[in-house]
Amino acid sequence: MTEKVGVLGEKQAPRKAARRTGVERVVNAPLPTVYGKFQAIGYLDHDRGDEQVALVYGEIGSEDVLTRLHSECLTGDAFGSQHCECGDQLASALRAVVAEGSGIVVYLRGHEGRGIGLLAKLRAMALQAEGLDTVEANLALGLPVDARDYGVAAEILRDLGVRSVRLMSNNPRKREALLRHGIQVAEEVPLLIPPCENNIRYLRTKRERLDHRLPHLDAVAHWS
Ligand SMILES: [Zn+2]
Repeated sequence: MTEKVGVLGEKQAPRKAARRTGVERVVNAPLPTVYGKFQAIGYLDHDRGDEQVALVYGEIGSEDVLTRLHSECLTGDAFGSQHCECGDQLASALRAVVAEGSGIVVYLRGHEGRGIGLLAKLRAMALQAEGLDTVEANLALGLPVDARDYGVAAEILRDLGVRSVRLMSNNPRKREALLRHGIQVAEEVPLLIPPCENNIRYLRTKRERLDHRLPHLDAVAHWS
């Protein structure tokens, strides 16, 4: 090993940069939106390299904070895709937090297609257009049905001083994941979006195969 020599010629021990781990709060910026004025708090996840953001509205306390952990979905959130109901869920969550007067929407990057990534999600959507359901499509691609991790979300909530949440979700696994990571879930608040012809099959699969609580689907007539 070559010894490093400083400018004055003395030997220096090779310096090892201390590698940070976990989630670091990097920035806090005001974010006025059509829903209301949020604070966008940006985090860097040193373990995965993801840039994350939490939108905070009003003065949040530490208990029973109305919270949505929203899995990134480019097609649903930005393009208004009707394949899934993500875009409407995000808008509903932001509206609900504003109506409540305070709350948090953590937007989780790296969660595309339940964690398989954007291109794999598009491949899975192509398979669904051929008749597979959303679970079968992931499996046909040799990918996990749900690869999402909520450890980062829990770390972000802890950084925001939150100990317990009222969680806007229909997915029992999110609650379990938060509990595992040390955040209490005081209540689960359903986030039910009226289905449309394009997503009814997808939503029924989420209910039947992924245990999502979607009781409102009962009222929907079968679309052919
Ligand atoms: Zn989606």
